[in-house]
Amino acid sequence: MLKLMNERPIDFGHDRSVYCRACRRKSKVDDSWMSALTKSVICCPACSKQWEAPTDFCFDFNDDDQMKHAHNVTSAYWYHTSLHPDWLLAEFDPEIKLTEVERVHAERYASGGVAGWASRQKAQALHIGTYEAAIENMLRHMFERGAEQKQFYLYRVVLNDDCKILDEVHPEPPAAWGSTAVNDILGNSLEVYRYVNACEDKSSISLALTNRAVSKVQMIPIPILTLQGIARVDELVERLKEAERTPATPLAAPKMDFEDKLREIFGAPRKDSVGKLGTETSKNRFGEELRKVSKELAADLPESIKEKVNMPPITVRSGQEIRSLVEKLVGLHTLVAEPCKVLTELDKQPWKSVSGN
Ligand SMILES: [Zn+2]
Repeated sequence: MLKLMNERPIDFGHDRSVYCRACRRKSKVDDSWMSALTKSVICCPACSKQWEAPTDFCFDFNDDDQMKHAHNVTSAYWYHTSLHPDWLLAEFDPEIKLTEVERVHAERYASGGVAGWASRQKAQALHIGTYEAAIENMLRHMFERGAEQKQFYLYRVVLNDDCKILDEVHPEPPAAWGSTAVNDILGNSLEVYRYVNACEDKSSISLALTNRAVSKVQMIPIPILTLQGIARVDELVERLKEAERTPATPLAAPKMDFEDKLREIFGAPRKDSVGKLGTETSKNRFGEELRKVSKELAADLPESIKEKVNMPPITVRSGQEIRSLVEKLVGLHTLVAEPCKVLTELDKQPWKSVSGN
């Protein structure tokens, strides 16, 4: 029988739910509230108490989230991003994830050598979630862990109809859970643990599961470029090449404070003459134009995701490097702004059944 799958609406700026530990009430907050979360003083929308510590509140799932009902979980598509072109194979056979250097280190320092390390890896939970959570997870890995040049892959995951799901939606497991065997949490008979994601696509429900629960996956390398994206890349590459050829506008002399004035009078060097913003000089307008391009691309994205899609400062040397950089920027923008085009690419891929159970 054909199984009808549920592709949930994708919106990186959707409302979230927060729970206040002082008044014990749950409130819905919008994207501008989320954007202010890390930048300003935040008060409980229900009781107006100022939240001073991260423990004053937590994220909760939205009341209209269908995944709060266990019976909806196996008919929904789930997502995951990975650095591995065969993510599940890497989970079943973790040794293939090791570089030669890492293998030597694991053999020497890990308890039980490479085999011991691999067996502990295999026992850990897999994590899957909404499309938004998967993309945000990739962005975090890319920019916080210096993987911006690496190739990522997006997986769409379908679970087995009969997989055994733990009742209730739980808080996000502590970070230490990542190294705990999944059977220690779920026991031998259960396979899926639902939790409120507090890191990526906050408030959404994610799953920690054993690999026995997975039925099949589809995969595409990401970011992707659409036809429109390719035209945009050509235009932006030209702008950046032009900026690289244009000498930078000389910066105005930095402001001097009282101590600097005294130093000048007595002939001593300025205390901030090295490595301070405003005293730097760059040879051309490339950096300035790149910041402008990033800002323009992100202009129509939800506030709370804008900064996450920006590329970190990168030294670019050749025309080809400029093209690669722009392709990545435009591709990242597509993942967030035009998810339908990404899903259409996924639709074209063959399903790969999981045979390692
Ligand atoms: Zn409150």
